[in-house]
Amino acid sequence: MEKHQFKAESQRLLDLMINSIYTNREIFLREIISNASDAIDKLAYTALTDDKVGIAREEFAITITRDEDARTLTVSDNGIGMNRAELEDNLGTIAKSGSLGFKQAMEKQEEIDIIGQFGVGFYSAFMVAASITVVTRKYGEDVAWKWISNGADGYTIEQTQKDAAGTDIIMTMKEDTEEDKYSDFLQEYQIRNLIRKYSDYIRYPIRMEVTKSRPVENVDENGETGTNYESYTENETLNSMVPLWQRPKKDVTEEEYESFYQDKFFDYSKPLRTIHTSAEGTVSYKALLYVPGKAPYDFYTRDYRPGLQLYSSGVMIMESCEDLVPEHFRFIRGVVDSQDLSLNISREMLQKNRQLTIIARNIEKKIKSELKAMLENDREKYEEFFAAFGRQLKYGTVAEYGVHKEATQDLLLFYSHKQGKLISLKEYVEAMAEGQEKIYFVPGENREHLAKLPQVETLSKKGYDTLLFTEDVDEFVPQTLMTYMEKSFCNASSEDLGLQTEEEKKAAEERAEELKGFLTFVKESLGEQVKEVKLSANLGSHPVCMSPDAGMSFEMEKYMKRANPEFAFSVGRILELNADHDAVKAMHKAMTEDPLKAKDYAQLLMYQAQLMADLPLEDPYAYTQLVCKLMV
Ligand code: ADP
Repeated sequence: MEKHQFKAESQRLLDLMINSIYTNREIFLREIISNASDAIDKLAYTALTDDKVGIAREEFAITITRDEDARTLTVSDNGIGMNRAELEDNLGTIAKSGSLGFKQAMEKQEEIDIIGQFGVGFYSAFMVAASITVVTRKYGEDVAWKWISNGADGYTIEQTQKDAAGTDIIMTMKEDTEEDKYSDFLQEYQIRNLIRKYSDYIRYPIRMEVTKSRPVENVDENGETGTNYESYTENETLNSMVPLWQRPKKDVTEEEYESFYQDKFFDYSKPLRTIHTSAEGTVSYKALLYVPGKAPYDFYTRDYRPGLQLYSSGVMIMESCEDLVPEHFRFIRGVVDSQDLSLNISREMLQKNRQLTIIARNIEKKIKSELKAMLENDREKYEEFFAAFGRQLKYGTVAEYGVHKEATQDLLLFYSHKQGKLISLKEYVEAMAEGQEKIYFVPGENREHLAKLPQVETLSKKGYDTLLFTEDVDEFVPQTLMTYMEKSFCNASSEDLGLQTEEEKKAAEERAEELKGFLTFVKESLGEQVKEVKLSANLGSHPVCMSPDAGMSFEMEKYMKRANPEFAFSVGRILELNADHDAVKAMHKAMTEDPLKAKDYAQLLMYQAQLMADLPLEDPYAYTQLVCKLMV
């Protein structure tokens, strides 16, 4: 018989599984059962439109058979089954849904806790089984296939017989050792416990032959009647079959919610928040939603598929229905079940479905209020959430010119210079100093650097807070919102801070007039390097600063260069001088005494301003030359 090797990465996972000291070995049963349930889902769905399936809904079932002597545990389903190609594809290589993240981590060589982190599904059975036989027949095909593997040396496939469509997974348990009693997994009570713990909500009956005892009346030799017990076997359904979301909240434990989430959405970390909600009325539905604890590895890429699972009266009709969650909340995972949707509704019809639109709107509101509650009452968790998905909320705020801002703006956090932590815009406005009119922010690459900007210093002295923006998307937020709680935003690094009184403004104008010749001299010395040279009152202890042309920012220039080089542009540079600073005074003095030197000073101060603004020096060589020249 032909022997097949597992694909390289599958082999590594298998090695890990086989040698696993993973404490949660028992999850293998959940994985195998959830595969069986998925396979039945697929056939049940086919049955909706295909009369030939010929299985009534109530006949779908998962059967568990134990054989302690042979050490086998068998999980059988009457689901869709697999043909030969699918067997090879699905069980010979790891490239499918739940295992994808695993593959990525494998590439990054992160073996630690690999099993704990990813839904490795079928393969987890090798943690307890020495060998596994899969007998399967695909619905609609006549031939059946038998796949056998002991993990280590690959697998074999041969043709076989099977009466009906479906799959049997036959696991031969490993030999017991001092520490590990694999035979436990063959015990009736153990299986019963595992099913109740992990698979209770599976929507098809999980049946097993169990031993029970019943009383029998008997009469002894003295003619006295008594009661004896005799044992008999019975096929029992081990799970309650009620989907978690259909059960009353008070009857569901935290552990069940978590286990359901991890199993269903292939995230082995715990969700940060569970939202279990329902509605009755124009449309009735039940929803079980989760806020994940961390962003999936592909979240900010095109590969990520947002959406909620959609059920109609307990039957899954769509794996991920994107229309149920808005783009800005695309990180939400969950299930929605509504009896008001017809079972065989097509995707195109769904999009225009009125009920669906209403459900989606309610869900959006619910998510918003839950996140808000988290922000207000469970700050630590919220910050964890924000670290993972805050960027998405900001994108959501600025997308489509801000049409969704009502849903997201209250949920944003930015770093407060004054408070040294993340705060919401509401918290900023509420903490504004007396007389402060604007929400100040500065964009840049890192907080430490931004905190030292002269403008931030100036604002600080007045007791005004500045938000330090370090993410690409941050700056687009004030541009989109324009105002928040009726306060306008001010980019402190480029716009007038609005701190001067009328008299101060007048004085500044007079000063500029007085120094006009000097400013012109500096501008002419620098030529095309700067667009304008002017005086500034916001410089504090700094001699100069570089500010961008009105309405622009250097961060945007840099962002465009990175993200969209073909549309890159250069933002006009305005050199601002602090006329009271000794260095500027020295330059002014040199203008009359030694104009060539004054010209060099102008150039040097411009380089300084560039550096302070985090702008690269186009010619670092010229800069060092100049410094040396002035020193000698
Ligand atoms: P996942 O369930 O995450 O996709 P698994 O390794 O558990 O990963 O299973 C791989 C694939 O094998 C499944 O996606 C499914 O296509 C197929 N499969 C596994 N078990 C069964 C089954 N009992 N019936 C039909 N197909 C199955």
